[in-house]
Amino acid sequence: MDLQQIVKDAGIVGAGGAGFPTHAKLTEKAEYILLNAAECEPLLRVDQQLMEIYPKEIILGFEAAGKQVGASQAIIGIKNKHKKVIKILNEAIEALNLTEYVKVTPLEDVYPAGDEHVLVYEFTKKIVPELGIPLRVGCVVINSETALNIYNAINQLPVTDTYLTIAGDIENPVTLKVPVGTPIRALFEKAGIKDIDSYAVIDGGPMMGPVMENIDGFVNKKSKGYILLKKDHFLIKRKTVSLERASVVSRTACEQCRMCTDLCPRYLLGHNMQPHKMMRTLGYQLKDISEQDISQLCCECNVCELFACPVNIHPRAVNVIYKKKLQEQGIRYEPIKTEFTPRVARDFRLIPTKRLIFKLGLHDYDRPAPLDFDEYKSSYVEIPMSQHIGRPSQPIVSAGEQVKKGQLIAVIPENSLGAAIHASIDGVVVKVDEKSIAIKVGDYE
Ligand code: SF4
Ligand code: SF4
Repeated sequence: MDLQQIVKDAGIVGAGGAGFPTHAKLTEKAEYILLNAAECEPLLRVDQQLMEIYPKEIILGFEAAGKQVGASQAIIGIKNKHKKVIKILNEAIEALNLTEYVKVTPLEDVYPAGDEHVLVYEFTKKIVPELGIPLRVGCVVINSETALNIYNAINQLPVTDTYLTIAGDIENPVTLKVPVGTPIRALFEKAGIKDIDSYAVIDGGPMMGPVMENIDGFVNKKSKGYILLKKDHFLIKRKTVSLERASVVSRTACEQCRMCTDLCPRYLLGHNMQPHKMMRTLGYQLKDISEQDISQLCCECNVCELFACPVNIHPRAVNVIYKKKLQEQGIRYEPIKTEFTPRVARDFRLIPTKRLIFKLGLHDYDRPAPLDFDEYKSSYVEIPMSQHIGRPSQPIVSAGEQVKKGQLIAVIPENSLGAAIHASIDGVVVKVDEKSIAIKVGDYE
């Protein structure tokens, strides 16, 4: 069986990010395969530890993906501050006799080093076109956990677990391996947090992750971590402003200094994204919003809103508002050029992670979150059918059925983009609907 089918059968999706089904990335040919191990969101500690603990497995999974797409070069991108991990990776590459094919390339400790467009530029000096994907310039990008999942799939292990960090204003930050579908609330108990209701919880990294409306959901394949902060923390207040309020404040307070544009990572790569222009148009009640189509070039990295803007208003939120309106009206940005060059000042406008962490008020929480080797066991999981880009998976089990960990329980709808789903614990299926499958340890009642 070829690797693409193995990956498809194992239900692998991009671990972190939007959850693009990995088998669909392995269909085309590419010149480079890149391992995104930048983990540029502050406080998250998954990828750096996986590479330290499972270097050979990750490199072999990465190599296999590279060979599948016919890549002539495989490059691992990891921040230069992780010197110990870089040494471990280089030793593993040598031990596996892969020095001709796999290279480790250290990255500066800047945000957002892990943005796919930024990563591709740093490694190849090629710029992914506006609205394009890395394949447009001959690159396929996967992350470390995805490479580990590919290695596991080659060894007949489908995706049943995910790794995530619990960090923030808590005593003992920790990284856990947990079954997909684990109740999120239970993780906080495992992390020793007693007063969870006094916290606001960010789903994912502090820059791009949203504040959760409630914590009664379930872990999915792309969960990377949860950041716990007190409800009156600066970042929580910034992130919980409604789009309506963000729009009103931005309209009245923008001083058109254009710092948001000057530091925008996509603008710096030569794209036409210019958030200060979006802010300017807010003052007018424009009926024709087709001129605002540049908002679609925004990757929502939040640099403009959480780092650049001197008056703490909301250029990213304004982009989100316009993106929604454009989608409703079926308007799509038409690129005006195909070749891009970075802005001349780019090298001087990269954002050091340390400064970002200070600006976010997270410096007291920038600590290790060691992986707990005592594997978390869940007695109940609720596995979402939609945890990836594409159509939701279709259940193939019924309530009352006994299932084993790793057993296929939902499939990709015919002729669709999607991902297979497997039971993440041994148990009995207690609920099946189009949204999720619940499994519990013990008898069906
Ligand atoms: S969130 Fe802001 S800085 Fe980031 S891409 Fe969008 S406009 Fe640029
Ligand atoms: S940085 Fe803030 S004040 Fe300056 S142009 Fe952008 S949104 Fe306006």
